[in-house]
Amino acid sequence: MNVAHNLHIIKDRLPAQVQLVAVSKFQSEALIAEAYEAGQRIFGESRAQELKLKHEHLPKDIQWHFIGTLQTNKIKYIIDYVDLIHSVDSMKLLVEINRLAQKANRIVNCLLQLHVAEEESKFGFYIDECKAMLAQGEWKGLTHVRICGVMGMASNTENDEQIRHEFCLIHTFFQEMKQLHFAGDPSFKELSMGMSDDYSIAVEEGSTLVRIGSSIFGERIMH
Ligand SMILES: *Cc1c(COP(=O)(O)O)cnc(C)c1O
Repeated sequence: MNVAHNLHIIKDRLPAQVQLVAVSKFQSEALIAEAYEAGQRIFGESRAQELKLKHEHLPKDIQWHFIGTLQTNKIKYIIDYVDLIHSVDSMKLLVEINRLAQKANRIVNCLLQLHVAEEESKFGFYIDECKAMLAQGEWKGLTHVRICGVMGMASNTENDEQIRHEFCLIHTFFQEMKQLHFAGDPSFKELSMGMSDDYSIAVEEGSTLVRIGSSIFGERIMH
């Protein structure tokens, strides 16, 4: 794998306003360092303890994004330094992130993860559930989290029209919520959509953050 070369190819295809999250879950620190040397600064991880170790060992100007399912008892491993949590999928999780962020004396950036894919296994709020959560308003009292937008994954399918439709649902939801609840808030601006196989569609549908792993680092070796 030539990480620098792969990064270069992807960056060339991304419009200037779209940021690249290099998804380094299960990848070695040596490969992450290669991407860092090539200029990449935003990395995405899906396990809190793995992220903690990588954060300790790698350069301190890396912006670490958390993109996986986050259990409340694991927040403590990332709360001091995480730059953006993409995967907030319940009010309970948001409340707990807020509580620990307050203790850490930080305001932590979060995205609300939406479930729009057909697979049962994908996590996230259903759109109606997320609308109800925002309408209910309790989140407004959480002073140590900043809701910066939404994240979603499309179905794992060859059907590009379905993928496009699902990204479009996320974008429409984002715009509605921006008008209803975040009209005066410039921080609510991120649409985290698109992975190795579908990022070009996601970008066409308005993504501002693409999360790309295997096209940069190659296949993941699970452990
Ligand atoms: C693993 C993962 C990615 C990256 O997937 P690739 O297909 O390797 O690009 C993106 N987003 C999330 C939430 C992931 O878990």
